[in-house]
Amino acid sequence: MLKLEGVSAGYHSLRILHELDLHVEEGEIVAVVGANGAGKTTTLKTISGLLRPSSGVITFGGQRIDGVRPSELVRRGLVHVPEGRALFGPLSVEENLRMGGWTRGRRPLDEPMREVFELFPILAERRRQVAETLSGGQQQMLAIGRSLMAGPRLLLLDEPSTGLSPKLTWAVLDAIRTIRDRGVAVLLVEQNAAHALNLADRAYVLESGSVVLSGSGPELARDDRVRAAYLGL
Ligand code: ATP
Repeated sequence: MLKLEGVSAGYHSLRILHELDLHVEEGEIVAVVGANGAGKTTTLKTISGLLRPSSGVITFGGQRIDGVRPSELVRRGLVHVPEGRALFGPLSVEENLRMGGWTRGRRPLDEPMREVFELFPILAERRRQVAETLSGGQQQMLAIGRSLMAGPRLLLLDEPSTGLSPKLTWAVLDAIRTIRDRGVAVLLVEQNAAHALNLADRAYVLESGSVVLSGSGPELARDDRVRAAYLGL
C-alpha cells in the first residue's frame, strides 16, 4: 500500500536519505530501526509530506503522493503521529480527539471515539482532563487515539515508547498490535530495536540514511550484526 523507490531527501542542501527503498503492505506492522541520527524521523516526515524528496517516487494505494500536502494525505488515510506527540495542551482529552476527527466533516464522532476508549480505557476516565496534565504514557495514548479518529489506513508512529515506563511501553505496544488487527497498517520508527523487532512483521535497519538490512522482525532479531549493534548482545 505504501512504496518508496529511490527516495532521497534532507534539509536544505544537506542530504539525509539516500535512495531509500521501502514498502508497507496492508495489515502489516513494519519497523524502521537505527541509531540516533540515522534518518528515521526524516523518513516519516518525507512520507507524510512535511519534507519533499529531492528524487525518487512515493506511492500510497497505487497513487503517487510525493509533493501532496500533508492535510490531503490525512484525508486519504495516511496519518503521522510525530515524536513529542504535538497535542493541543490546554484542550481536554475529548476535545483533542474531536480535533483528530476533522476529516469526517459532519459525520458523528461517537463511534470512532468509542473505539479509541475501548483501546485506551484510561482516556475515557480522563476525557475531561486537559491534555498537558496527563502523564507521558497517557499523552502518547491520546496522540495515537487522536490519529485513529481520522480513520487511517496507515499510521506512521515516531518513537511511541520514548520516555515511557516499561509497563506503559508494553501497553502502547499491545495497542499497536490491536490497531493492526483492526486492519490499520503501521510504520513504526523506534530507537528501542528490541521492542520494535519483537512487534514488527517486517523491519528495516537504517544507517546514515540508507537501508543496510531488512527482513522479518524475528529474523533480524537473530542477526548477529543487529544483535551487536542494536540489541547490545
Ligand atoms: P533520532 O532517533 O535521534 O530522532 P533519527 O534517526 O530519527 O534520530 P533524524 O531525526 O531523521 O534521525 O535526523 C537525521 C539527520 O538529519 C541528523 O543528522 C539530524 O541532525 C538532521 N536533521 C534533522 N532535522 C533537521 C533539520 N530540521 N535541519 C537540519 N538537519 C536536520
